[in-house]
Amino acid sequence: SPTDLTDRVAIVTGASSGIGEATARVLADEGASVVLAARREDDLRTLADDIEDEGGDALVVPTDVAEEEQVRSLVDTAVEEFGRLDVLLNNAGVMLNEPFQASDTDHFEQMVEVNLLGLMKATRFAVPKMQETGDGRGHVVQLSSVAGRHAYPSHAAYNGTKFGVNGFTESVRKDLCGDGIRTTLVEPGAVDTELQQHIPDEDEREGAKEMVASMDALAPDDIAAGIVYAVTQPANVSVNELLIRPTEQE
Ligand code: NDP
Repeated sequence: SPTDLTDRVAIVTGASSGIGEATARVLADEGASVVLAARREDDLRTLADDIEDEGGDALVVPTDVAEEEQVRSLVDTAVEEFGRLDVLLNNAGVMLNEPFQASDTDHFEQMVEVNLLGLMKATRFAVPKMQETGDGRGHVVQLSSVAGRHAYPSHAAYNGTKFGVNGFTESVRKDLCGDGIRTTLVEPGAVDTELQQHIPDEDEREGAKEMVASMDALAPDDIAAGIVYAVTQPANVSVNELLIRPTEQE
C-alpha cells in the first residue's frame, strides 16, 4: 500500500523559496507536518502561515546549514516538537558559477558547505532519529541536479558538489537498505527559481537567466510532484533517482 503521509514529519531545508517552498506546501497538503528550515526567517513564517491557513501543520526553524550545530539542532527540534521524523528533504543549495580561473575560493567553500557538507551532516543526524521514532523507517531525499551527472563549463565547484551528493547518497543507500531507510536523488534540469539570480558573476548570472528564459522551463511544482511520488510509494519501493528535464533542454 502507498505510504500515507498523514501525521508523518518532514524536514525541508531551503524552504524559503523555489523547489523547497513548493515541496513543503505539497507535503503539507498530503498531511505531513513540515519543519521549514532556511536562513530567511520572514519567508519561512509567511510560508508557515499559508500552510496553517490551509489546515496544515508547520514549524519554522531558522537554520544555516553551513553551521553544524544549527543542523543538529534542526533535527533535534523537529523530533522534540513532533515526536518523530520520517522524511528529510536536503534541498538547500547555492550555485555560484564562474569561469574556473577567475574562481573565488570563498565560493568553493560556500558551495561545499551548503550543497554537500550540510546535506551530509543533516543525513547523518536525521537517520538515527528516523530509526528511533515513528515506524522506524525513513526517507532521505537529496536535491542533486543534472549537474550531478554531467559537467558544464563555469560549473566546476557546483558540479563537484552535485557529483559528490550522488556518490554520498548511493553509499548511504547501501549502508541503510537493510534498515528500511530509502534514498532518492532528485536531478532537475532548468527550473525557474531564484537560484540563478544569486550568481555573483554578472555574465554567468545573465547567461543562466537567459538559458532558463529561452525554454519552457520547469516550475518548482514539477519537481515537488516527483518528490511526492517517491515518498508516497509503498515501503518496499525505493525510487532511487529522478532525472527531470524540461522537454526542450538538451
Ligand atoms: P532557490 O534559490 O529558490 O532556493 C534555494 C534555497 O536554499 C533557499 O530556500 C535558500 O534559503 C536555501 N539556502 C541557501 N543557502 C542556505 C544556507 N546556508 N542554509 C540554509 N538554507 C540555505 O533555488 P532552487 O529552489 O532552484 O534550488 C533548490 C535546490 O535545487 C538546490 O540544491 C539546487 O542546487 C537544486 N537545483 C536547482 C535547479 C534549478 O534550475 N533551479 C536545477 C537543479 C538542481 P535562504 O537564502 O533563506 O537560506
